[in-house]
Amino acid sequence: MSKIKDIQFSMKTYEYEKPFHITGSIASYATNIEVKVMLENGVEGYGEASPSFRVNGEKPEMIMALESFAKEMLTGIDVAEYRKIFQVTDKLLATPSLKAATQYAVLDALSQEAGLEVYQLLGGATKQIETDKTVGIDTLENRVADAKKIFEAGFKTIKIKVGEDLKEDIQAMYEIYKVSKGAKYIVDANMGYTPKQAVEFANQVYQAGIDIAVFEQPVYMSDIDGLRFVRFNVPFPVAADESAKTKFDVLRLIKEEAVDYVNIKLMKSGVSDAISIVELVKSANMKLMIGCMGESSVGINQSVHFAFGTGAFDFCDLDSHLMLKEERFRGKFIQDGSKMIARK
Ligand SMILES: [Mg+2]
Repeated sequence: MSKIKDIQFSMKTYEYEKPFHITGSIASYATNIEVKVMLENGVEGYGEASPSFRVNGEKPEMIMALESFAKEMLTGIDVAEYRKIFQVTDKLLATPSLKAATQYAVLDALSQEAGLEVYQLLGGATKQIETDKTVGIDTLENRVADAKKIFEAGFKTIKIKVGEDLKEDIQAMYEIYKVSKGAKYIVDANMGYTPKQAVEFANQVYQAGIDIAVFEQPVYMSDIDGLRFVRFNVPFPVAADESAKTKFDVLRLIKEEAVDYVNIKLMKSGVSDAISIVELVKSANMKLMIGCMGESSVGINQSVHFAFGTGAFDFCDLDSHLMLKEERFRGKFIQDGSKMIARK
């Protein structure tokens, strides 16, 4: 096996096919940082950081400023000793997306050394997953048209963004349901509701005969009591996303019985904490989904391999690359409609 010789960062901007509107944020572009790890024997491993200011307080410039530090930190370590690299990069607390990209780039390099795919290094549990696709906040007509298009394209699970206007959101659920009967719904409020509004929303939807598979992050990230209140007052499973960044967050959510699901994102946790979170959540007999920020196919590839390797997820919400304009697909997996399939 081989040691790390150099690390290079490059900033890349991708335009969304359509401005992506969620509670409190409209994005036209995703600015990501590609991390290239170079080994002494010439092998190159790739990762991608997709920094989220809204969730993690990160900006792309913060990541770029750490390039020489990352090089200093990791040069000379053998990629086969990747737990050592996890320990060092676990200290990147202010830049979790960089932690993810660096850790994954190391695994990507190691996988080439070992003649395996990254998902096999991570456990090789499954070779296929299926992603949902997301309907952003928009006019009622556009939300319904987007949902219809997604459903007709063969996506069995539709993710619906809510959280800015309770009445409009309930109306959107009624109308989307009419054009997508048989679909599963993940509804994500991105912290936009009060606990009482979240209960009101869920009860109205339930009374209309609509089932929600996962009701994601209804309330503010620090409102753990609010999450628990929603969990025990709505008929649907409740998930933590913004509330669940590190393994320590998840330990608290378990202790407080605040949620049914945890949404793991490598951009919040890195690979190392994501591994811990899988074990914690499974130990507590709760469920997992995996999501993304604004990753291109390079970054989504990381979560796809994590999902293949662990086989731990009831739902995969890995669609950012399907919403961004990219010159070419760069994932090390096969995208076939909603399905993501291992190459070997
Ligand atoms: Mg979410």
